[in-house]
Amino acid sequence: MTTPRRWLFADQLGPHFLDAPDQPVLLLEATGVFRRRVFHRRKAHLILSALRHLAAELGDQALVVRSATYRAGLAEAGVSAAAPITVVDPTTHAARRFVRQLVDDGSVAQVLPARGFAIEEAQFEHWAAQGSASRLGRGRLLMEDFYRDVRRHHRLLLDADGRPEGGAWNYDAENREPPPKRVRTLADADGAKGLPEPWWPVEDDVDAGVRDDLDRMARDDGVRFVGDDGPRRFAVTRAEALTALDHFVTHRLEPFGTYEDAMLAGDPWMSHSMLSATMNLGLLHPVEAAQRAERAYRDGAVRLASVEGYVRQLVGWRDYVWHLYWHLGEDYRARNALQHTDDVPEWFAHLDPDGAVEAACLKDVLRGVREEGWVHHIPRLMVLANYALQRGWSPQQLTDWFHRVFVDGYDWVMVANVVGMSQHADGGVLATKPYWSGGAYIDRMSDYCGGCRYDPKKRLGEDACPFTAGYWAFTARHQELLAANPRTRRAVGGLHRLPDADAVVAQERERGSAAP
Ligand SMILES: Cc1cc2nc3c(=O)[nH]c(=O)nc-3n(C[C@H](O)[C@H](O)[C@H](O)COP(=O)(O)OP(=O)(O)OC[C@H]3O[C@@H](n4cnc5c(N)ncnc54)[C@H](O)[C@@H]3O)c2cc1C
Ligand code: SF4
Repeated sequence: MTTPRRWLFADQLGPHFLDAPDQPVLLLEATGVFRRRVFHRRKAHLILSALRHLAAELGDQALVVRSATYRAGLAEAGVSAAAPITVVDPTTHAARRFVRQLVDDGSVAQVLPARGFAIEEAQFEHWAAQGSASRLGRGRLLMEDFYRDVRRHHRLLLDADGRPEGGAWNYDAENREPPPKRVRTLADADGAKGLPEPWWPVEDDVDAGVRDDLDRMARDDGVRFVGDDGPRRFAVTRAEALTALDHFVTHRLEPFGTYEDAMLAGDPWMSHSMLSATMNLGLLHPVEAAQRAERAYRDGAVRLASVEGYVRQLVGWRDYVWHLYWHLGEDYRARNALQHTDDVPEWFAHLDPDGAVEAACLKDVLRGVREEGWVHHIPRLMVLANYALQRGWSPQQLTDWFHRVFVDGYDWVMVANVVGMSQHADGGVLATKPYWSGGAYIDRMSDYCGGCRYDPKKRLGEDACPFTAGYWAFTARHQELLAANPRTRRAVGGLHRLPDADAVVAQERERGSAAP
């Protein structure tokens, strides 16, 4: 008996989404979504390139249909109750609803549990029900608890007695240093000397075809993109994915922990893996990447602190936000505990196309997003999202923006990261306090401020840093809430000691959401 055909969504492209290597496959290239939303040009390229590369690899094994919508594509593929397909549960609420309808009409014979994460959803629900919530007595699901259980489950970085390798679960005290001084790139720094650039793919005919099609869509079909086109940066095939992972672990993982939070204007990649887009296309499994990193530690090639720092992001944070997407339900995305309703301004939405932004950090980070569709975690959290939080922009508009302009942006990963982690719009489900900070943090963790027309120490006047002044304006706006939280109370005390607090608030009201 032949295995039924498996419909692979565009983020399910790795071998672990098939039950057998020769299983028949259905690939739908549904481009209608590009007409409905304005995506980064590089993101559209990446997704189409990945789909088409897999189609080319599979040859006759894959039935490939190009259509405007999934429904039209399935009809064209002849999927029906008489010729049903199977699917691995997709990654958005909307797609899951659609697939359930297809089960009802018989055209999907089986929906298998989601793949591509360290643990299954049922395991997470079990953990959430009986583990962390009762242990903490606050109903809060702590990432640290979750991460340790995932490590135990997969026996990652454990010693022979099941204890954490090296005696600690967490090496943050060794990690997360400011950038080295007086260097342009990490490769110039002691301890990371000669760090090579990330592995870059070589484009081929498939990429050329994608580029032509995207040009045509923009020219003839009224499709609009944001951001610049440019050479493909991320792996789109399984072979490329394995090469990129191997290159990262072998050549670039060592300084990862130390500098994972640092920013250098001359080095956008630092020692980050740049594997999120590939992982989110389903081409790598996070546990295989974590095991590969662990092997490098066991071989004595990479320090434990860096390997632990990477594994924590990969099977800790990544899985945690995935499971919270389902656990917290579809209404979670609409939360707006701080009642932030201002529109995301045009200069930000369009990635500072006219160079209107003068703030050196924000200017460079927006340039990175415009040119690459990618910047690392700290520019996302402490520059982009921090600015949005300080200015009171709508968390829902911001979520949509992050989803569309980042090459690794998907609904499941955005909601918890943006609504919860970065905008505190959930009122504290994910993080115990809002992540808002002034220019002092950016000055400590980057080399931006030296070349900026603003001064991170100034909160008032022509050269007042918009982040520093914005920090106080945010503190003033939410002082009641912040005073009630022991972790943020001090900021309110600091505000009340400022001799010029009213003037700073008035200045920032005047600045509003104009390009700083
Ligand atoms: C506001 C905001 C928005 C974000 N949006 C996305 C997104 O759309 N897609 C996305 O994959 N990540 C997102 N992240 C998480 C993180 O910034 C990126 O995963 C990371 O920067 C990708 O680069 P990298 O592969 O070099 O990661 P590395 O620094 O090398 O980290 C290793 C891996 O850990 C995983 N990871 C780390 N942190 C997170 C996290 N918070 N959530 C999910 N995965 C994580 C990623 O798979 C990443 O590849 C967001 C974070 C913030 C604060
Ligand atoms: S001074 Fe302020 S605006 Fe300028 S780079 Fe530093 S933090 Fe950014």
